[in-house]
Amino acid sequence: MFYKDYQTARNAVWKLLIDLKIGALPVRVSEVSRALGIEVRTIEELAPAQHRQNLAGRNTIDGGARLVAGQPVILYNALNTPARCRFTIAHELGHFILGHVERAPDLAIQTPVLFRRGGVPESPVETAANVFAARLLAPACVLWGLGVKDARHLARVCDISREAAAYRMERMRLLYRRDREFLKNRGYSCFLLARQEQQVYEQFRPFIERERL
Ligand SMILES: [Zn+2]
Repeated sequence: MFYKDYQTARNAVWKLLIDLKIGALPVRVSEVSRALGIEVRTIEELAPAQHRQNLAGRNTIDGGARLVAGQPVILYNALNTPARCRFTIAHELGHFILGHVERAPDLAIQTPVLFRRGGVPESPVETAANVFAARLLAPACVLWGLGVKDARHLARVCDISREAAAYRMERMRLLYRRDREFLKNRGYSCFLLARQEQQVYEQFRPFIERERL
């Protein structure tokens, strides 16, 4: 399987979860990368000069997505916590799957702006990669099925940082509000309306039933 198949898919994350038969959280980003033929290496291994900067705390970088001799490679900063590394790798997967790397191969290394301090405006490409990562690691219909209501629970079940979980929880609160409006005004939920989302939910159903609060 190769990641290029997903670039035209409307709902790349749902398709990915279905094709890889993922039915439990936390999603294993190394297994997803392997299944897509994308190599995952540390910045220390592939970009030692950047690693020295990361160690010194100067212009630190979380990860990157690049083609090395035509082969897709994800780099990540292994100095970060495992939860943050997972988000970085998911973010870089997003850059490949959404076709950003082919369009700008010299883009090389980018920092997930979600974690950047100081209110730097986020580029559309970075936003898209962050949305991809959040949906892959914390699929909304699964969180809904599990009854996840706060960032602490979300962080634990998805194995992501509290910071990323708080950000995702904001989105979930909007979806829950929308769901209440749907139920009140239309008599049905706003979740599981898309066929692919139903399929994802079915794959996760045994996990949801086991883990539900
Ligand atoms: Zn990025």
